[in-house]
Parts: sequence; C-alpha cells; structure tokens
Amino acid sequence: MSVTNLVPPSATLAVNERLRRLIEAGRPILHLAFGEAGLPVPEAVLDALRSGGPDNGYGPVAGSREARAAAAGWFARRRLPTDPDQVVLAPGSKALLWALLSVLPGDVVLPAPSWVSYAAQAALAGKRVWSVPIATDGAGGVPDPAALEQTLADAARQGARPGVLVLTLPDNPTGTVPSAGEVRRTVEIAEAHGLSLISDEIYRDLAHEPGEVLSPAELMPERTYVTTGLSKNMALGGWRIGLVRVPDTTTGRAAREAMLGLASEVWSSAPAPMQHVATYVLNEPPEVVEHVASSRRLHRSTAIAAHARLVAAGISCRPPTGGFYLYPDFEPVRPELAEQHVGGGDALATHLLERYEIGVLSGVAFGDQPAALRCRIATSLLYGKTEDERRQALAAEEPAELPWIKASLDRLGSAVAGLHP
Ligand code: PLP
Repeated sequence: MSVTNLVPPSATLAVNERLRRLIEAGRPILHLAFGEAGLPVPEAVLDALRSGGPDNGYGPVAGSREARAAAAGWFARRRLPTDPDQVVLAPGSKALLWALLSVLPGDVVLPAPSWVSYAAQAALAGKRVWSVPIATDGAGGVPDPAALEQTLADAARQGARPGVLVLTLPDNPTGTVPSAGEVRRTVEIAEAHGLSLISDEIYRDLAHEPGEVLSPAELMPERTYVTTGLSKNMALGGWRIGLVRVPDTTTGRAAREAMLGLASEVWSSAPAPMQHVATYVLNEPPEVVEHVASSRRLHRSTAIAAHARLVAAGISCRPPTGGFYLYPDFEPVRPELAEQHVGGGDALATHLLERYEIGVLSGVAFGDQPAALRCRIATSLLYGKTEDERRQALAAEEPAELPWIKASLDRLGSAVAGLHP
C-alpha cells in the first residue's frame, strides 16, 4: 500500500521555504517570491490577542457572535450590507475557498493567470477547471470577456457545466484592480450563464484607491460569495484569520450550512483568541484604519518604484494598482534570453535565481502558458531585515527612498537591465 498524495505542496509556500533555506545558508538572495505582507504587528492588536488568550473554548463553528457582527459592519462600510448570520470565520480564507469550491455546484472557471491555490483546491474538490486568459490590455483578476463567452460555449458543446467563476480583486499575481466596467461586464456574463461568483477580496483594503473597488457582490448579491481575511491588510498571515460572506438567499444559506459541515469535520472553528483579534480589527478603530493606510502607502510606493525599474529596462508590465505584486512579461528580451537557453516562465525564474540571486515565482505556477516569459514579483519582503527597519518603512513618506529598500530595487533594476546584451 502506498501513501495517497492528493496534491503537491503549494508552489508559493514551497518556493518560500526553499529560498529561506538558501538565505540561511548565506546566499545573498533578493526574495521576491512570497506574498507575505512583511510588516510588524501593531501593539493594540497584540493587546487584543493577549486579552483573548484565556478564551480556550472551541466556540461556534461559524465564529463568535461578536466577530461575525464586527465582520458584518466591516462589509457594510464597503457598500455590502450584511447580517452577522451571513458570515463564517475560519483559520484563513484559504480554508473557506476550499470549502466554497467544494460545496458550490459545477465546474470551476478561473482567470489565467490566477492565484496558485484555486486550481489545486478545485482539483481536491473533484472539480474540472476551465481556464480563461485575462485581457492582454486590461487588469488581471477577471477573465477576458470574449474568451469567457467562448470557453462557456465550448464547455456547453462538450456537455460540461461550469458553475463557479473565481475573481480576485485586487488581483494576485498581477497587482491590478479590475475597473468597474470590467467587473460589470464579467457579472453580466456570469448572470447570463447562471454562474455563481467567488470574489476573493483579501487585498481589497490594499487597492491604491480602495473606495473605487467595485465588488461583484454589489451587482449580483444573490450569487456572489466574498472571501477576505486579515493576512494582507494587517499582515497577520501566520495568525490565520479568514472570513466569508454568503448571499442572503436560500442557496446562500444552504451553502453556508454545507461549509459549516465541512468546517466542523476539518477545523472546528477559527481559534478563539484570533476571533478576539478579528473583532477588534474588523470594528476598525482609528489606529487600525491608520495602520492599514500606512501599509497601503508603503506597498504602493514600493510596487510603483519596482515597476519603474522594470519598465526602464524595457520589460513590459501592467502598472500596479493594488496589493504588492507585479507580473512582468520578459517577451521584449526573448531573443537575449533564448541565447541563455531561457524559453519560458520556469526557466526564467531559475535564470533569475541562478544568475542574479533573485527569487521570483514562475508564471506557470499561476496557470500561465509554459512558454510565456512571465513571473510574479512580490515586493512585500523588501521592507527591512529588522523590526526597526520595517517600522521606519511603515512610517516613511517616501518608503522607496529608504536606503535598504532603494538598494533592493536598484539591484532588481540592474539585474533586469543586464538581460540585454
Ligand atoms: N487569496 C489570495 C489571492 C491570496 O494571495 C492568499 C494568500 O496568499 C489567500 C487567498 C489566502 O489567504 P489566507 O491567509 O486568508 O488563507
């Protein structure tokens, strides 16, 4: 008898562990491969955790009344009126995305590229994935409308039944926010084809213009499931705090029940002390609002500065509009890369690591074509090696001008410039 290996380790966690080992072994790696919002925890949030420490009961599977009420208020302040009973908390939104993909009916449609775990989770849930490219001249996180129509028609011809479309606003890996027009067009198609939407809004508060993010749940509330969490806006990834907002409909309630069944058998509940943290943060006291605003400024300034370095070196890249990612396309230097035997995303990532000690994640991990010369760059681990440097980065008016951030950005700039002969 052999072990059942259902899914390989997530590409993003695997590359992080590998690069951390190389760094520990003394290699001067510029780590741009992991989507961790490397920032310190505010003192008031540590206090909320400490005060929740004595709470060691399991509590309700969906989460405490207080945390769900705070989440409902958080959504309502983002133009999504919510009853606490529409909310479920969990140890990370990743768990909830898996639960949603498992319980919602039908095959799964994903933009390509999209975040690494959707396809793996759909496979775990026994779902077929239909991949649809994003628009070449538009934002990521939503599929190209014509390609989406085409894929849905192809699927119908093959007797398949796509039922769920996953959107990411702002997007990982492209670091862009779909415009209101792009979201509207996507929702129109989803509506016409009876698709449910999962709107992954974990980076929502890190959109450069958060007020302008249009959630599909505003347009199609009856069939849109919104997931979010505190991993990105508050940089609390390791604390594992995620939540979902289900539609206020019979089907939404049924999906919630079905997810609670899975949750009760797999993780029981979000850790009780973390629910105290969630309650505190989601109620958005002024110090939290301020912390998120400073983080947004830091991510924005660093991503924009990294983008400028890439573009100056002749690399194509969508300008960043949210989160802390860039998704450059090295097609303009394909001939030069071909001379180094680099002809696709995986070889590009290996080349950048071996030749320049720069760690990025190949576009292939995000479902991109193997021959595409694209990769994802995360700028969020550049903020400093020490807690003090990271605090300075958070407080800086022009973070990209801080010597340690500037040095890393310059290193990236000269490496990509060096790809030319
Ligand atoms: N969705 C996207 C697009 C992400 O980038 C991530 C984390 O990298 C997650 C979900 C998972 O977040 P969580 O920490 O809430 O499980």
